[in-house]
Order: sequence, then C-alpha cells, then structure tokens
Amino acid sequence: MGMFDSLYVDCCCGNKVEFQSNAGDCTCESYQINNVLNSIAGYLIGSTEKCDVCGAIITLRGSVVLVAEFTHNAAHEPTATKTKNKRRRVSE
Ligand SMILES: [Zn+2]
Repeated sequence: MGMFDSLYVDCCCGNKVEFQSNAGDCTCESYQINNVLNSIAGYLIGSTEKCDVCGAIITLRGSVVLVAEFTHNAAHEPTATKTKNKRRRVSE
C-alpha cells in the first residue's frame, strides 16, 4: 500500500469528504481546502468525490500559479562565459 495525503472538504451537509493525493511527499498528512499544499492542490484539481451522507458530488476547482524565476549565476556554470563568447556571432 502506498502512502498518500488527504484533503478533507466540508460538505454542505456537514460531513467531511476525503480526497486522496499521491502528489508530494505523501506523509499521510491531513489538509483542509484552505491550507493544502500547492503540489497537492494541483494534483487534485478536477477531482470528484461523492459524499456518503447526502450524495452530493463534490468537484475541486481552482488553479495553481507557476512563476518562472530566472537566475544568472556564474557559480553554477563556471564555463558559461567562455562558451558564450566562442559561440557568439556578429551579424552585419
Ligand atoms: Zn454531504
């Protein structure tokens, strides 16, 4: 059996409906919809579960925003400057 994290959603009837996620570290943590990790939220978007008590179908909607961070750090690429200069072409 694999481990998973659980997101509990409060149904309109008061029941707690569990959504299981295999995303992330799967530390058997329990989350609620307002504190769930982005990795798990992204995994669960579009997931549907049925409430055992009232029969409501619950679909998770939302989005996870990705931001690309650009870092130019010579320490990670010691030869980058040399290579770049060799390959550079001057167009006229
Ligand atoms: Zn319900």
